[in-house]
Amino acid sequence: MKEYKISAINEGTVIDHITPEATFKVIEILNLDKRPDLIISVGNNMGSKHIGKKGIIKISGSFLGTDDANKIALIAPNATLNIIRNFKVTEKKQLKIPDKIESIVKCFNPNCITNVERIATKFTVTSRNPLKLLCAYCERSMKREDIVLL
Ligand code: ZN
Repeated sequence: MKEYKISAINEGTVIDHITPEATFKVIEILNLDKRPDLIISVGNNMGSKHIGKKGIIKISGSFLGTDDANKIALIAPNATLNIIRNFKVTEKKQLKIPDKIESIVKCFNPNCITNVERIATKFTVTSRNPLKLLCAYCERSMKREDIVLL
């Protein structure tokens, strides 16, 4: 079987082991599609010993922070995030779903005040596996499948 590889980067961030369904969502939530200044390589449905098929995103010249790692954790909890300097991994960021999620996720209840007025959404993470988010305003609980990112 032929193996496909995307080239190594000198400096930047590598997001690896993304479930293939989430790869393009990760690009979307990080707004990478709106960054014409960055060199981004994306591979999807690549072979992986650990999870079968996976997605990988390499971002040249940009180091993602903890906020970005938290966003990725919401949709691709098994992904890994490595910071690369001089072609070497210098930092592995833990992807951790935060206890509170503000302004990233839309409430799935159409009658929630956050969908009617311009109010930032707020959720408390009541369970991580399976993921459950409790809306601070309407008190409805969302599952991972209900999540729509703002
Ligand atoms: Zn709500």
